[in-house]
Amino acid sequence: LELIHADPIRSKIEAPTFDSAMRLPESSEILRAMQEHELTFALQPRISASSKVVTGFEVLARWEHPVLGKIAPDYFIQLAEEHGYIGQLTQYIFEQALAWFVEFRKDSNKLIPGLVDLNDLQLSMNLSALLLDDAEFPEYMQQLCERYSVKPASIILEITETSAMTERSVGLEVITRLRLYGFHLSIDDFGTGYSSMLQLVRLPFTEIKIDKSFVMSVGDMSESREVVRSIIDLAHSLEMVAVAEGVEDESAVEFLGRCGCDEYQGFHFGRPMPPAEVLPWLRDYYQH
Ligand code: C2E
Ligand code: CA
Ligand code: CA
Ligand code: CA
Repeated sequence: LELIHADPIRSKIEAPTFDSAMRLPESSEILRAMQEHELTFALQPRISASSKVVTGFEVLARWEHPVLGKIAPDYFIQLAEEHGYIGQLTQYIFEQALAWFVEFRKDSNKLIPGLVDLNDLQLSMNLSALLLDDAEFPEYMQQLCERYSVKPASIILEITETSAMTERSVGLEVITRLRLYGFHLSIDDFGTGYSSMLQLVRLPFTEIKIDKSFVMSVGDMSESREVVRSIIDLAHSLEMVAVAEGVEDESAVEFLGRCGCDEYQGFHFGRPMPPAEVLPWLRDYYQH
């Protein structure tokens, strides 16, 4: 009966709530996701180009929705940014990641002794440029590190440059203070956004992360090879570390190596993995 009386226009404009596959989570669900621990993180290794040693891991947020399944980080990060939840989300992820990091480094002896010192590992974390508007963020980060007894120098904060950073002075102050406290600062997705030479020299970044769109196409496009080569040269002329993300095969490794790229990250070496898999992965990595 209900079906017969259903208003055909109304049923066309309203998303069918019974079809979960067609629904995306709402912003308010982010709060529940944190409370219910639906929100977690994965870790992806970074490899030194010269020594092939694992230099650290990048923390990547993950959301397993009870009904909708895995939600893309690009989607829920933007949702959090647009609805004012990014501060809470960042805090949530950073605290979990640091807690893991501290425990993990205690496992040093469980690894092949003498081969790797887990205390040398760095943890890369993504920082939304919106948080650069928060003048108290550097103090928060410093206290967080104190609380977990982690040196700020062990932390790399990856920031994707946005137009906001070119216009506001708050961002500059926050970034400068973070650097003064000893945090490493990486400019993420380099080559795609608003990044300019001027920004690079003005802000105290320590690392350039070459966007995966260039890295993934070095095999097919000579333009990408030129872009990648220039970015690496630029990084080095500014005494910054050049990192390539999206390293998917041996030929990319070879090309990047010839260009003098310092570190690699990508599926070729390791996919983002749950925290519990990191130690077995490391053991496996060093045994092969
Ligand atoms: P991103 O910071 O550029 O992270 C790298 C993305 O590339 C990750 O996607 C990673 O899974 C993927 N990736 C790594 N290696 C390869 C590869 O070899 N090939 C390909 N095709 N992809 C690779 P993911 O995990 O989906 O994250 C997407 C974006 O979401 C991140 O891009 C970052 O901008 C954002 N994000 C993730 N976690 C956080 C977080 O905790 N805070 C903030 N603010 N943003 C986050
Ligand atoms: Ca990143
Ligand atoms: Ca990136
Ligand atoms: Ca990104």
